[in-house]
Amino acid sequence: MNIDTLIELASKKGSKEKIIQYNNFKRIGIMGGTFDPIHIGHLVIAEEIRNEFKLDKIIFIPAGNPPHKDNKKITPAKHRYIMTLLATISNPYFEVSAIEVERKGVTYTIDTIKTLREICSNDIEIYFITGADSILELHTWKNVKELLKLCNFIAATRPGFEMINLKKKIQEMNDKYGANIYTTIVTALQISSTDIRTRIKEGRTVKYLLPEMVEKYIHKNNLYR
Ligand code: ATP
Ligand code: MG
Repeated sequence: MNIDTLIELASKKGSKEKIIQYNNFKRIGIMGGTFDPIHIGHLVIAEEIRNEFKLDKIIFIPAGNPPHKDNKKITPAKHRYIMTLLATISNPYFEVSAIEVERKGVTYTIDTIKTLREICSNDIEIYFITGADSILELHTWKNVKELLKLCNFIAATRPGFEMINLKKKIQEMNDKYGANIYTTIVTALQISSTDIRTRIKEGRTVKYLLPEMVEKYIHKNNLYR
């Protein structure tokens, strides 16, 4: 199948949730992000964490209208959702959920995890994967106490990240909320969506920083120009 056919298929794929199928699995990883656009850094942490924590599935959930980024210009959710589909299509352990992009208004992680908890059976363990930088901000998240009861967290360290502050924060969260926050060091890839957007705007190459199909989709739809 060529790239254009795949892009077309991904654009057409129905976005209705079939979360019920997740009940076949016991350990699910959730990879949330703006994915504007999704890049190799995201895919590497998801795959390495899946392997290390023996997760049955990783569900990528592109944010609808993320509260932390609402003052910045974000690409319409539909494009970010399709790019995430294209990037993950070749990995049988990866799924994409439209749970947040279909919700109107601001989306919070607590609402997403609650929805998943309602649909999945109780014995399913949910691991919310996030960059270590986000863990430092965790106390500002909506209903953090409840959130930490509903799921575990895995903090992936980013290149050049100061571990001392992270360990302190995790200790604080554990003492205060009885949280389950794991840390892991993933292969260091200094790639960010911000840098990719800048490169495209300036006409510089982004080849190998993101999957070929995502790059093609970006050019086809004139994104980030
Ligand atoms: P932006 O530059 O727009 O903030 P981003 O590259 O940080 O984009 P997000 O969609 O904000 O991408 O990130 C989703 C999650 O992936 C976050 O938890 C973030 O910390 C993590 N992440 C992003 N890039 C990397 C990377 N290169 N290595 C490790 N974690 C990453
Ligand atoms: Mg970011």
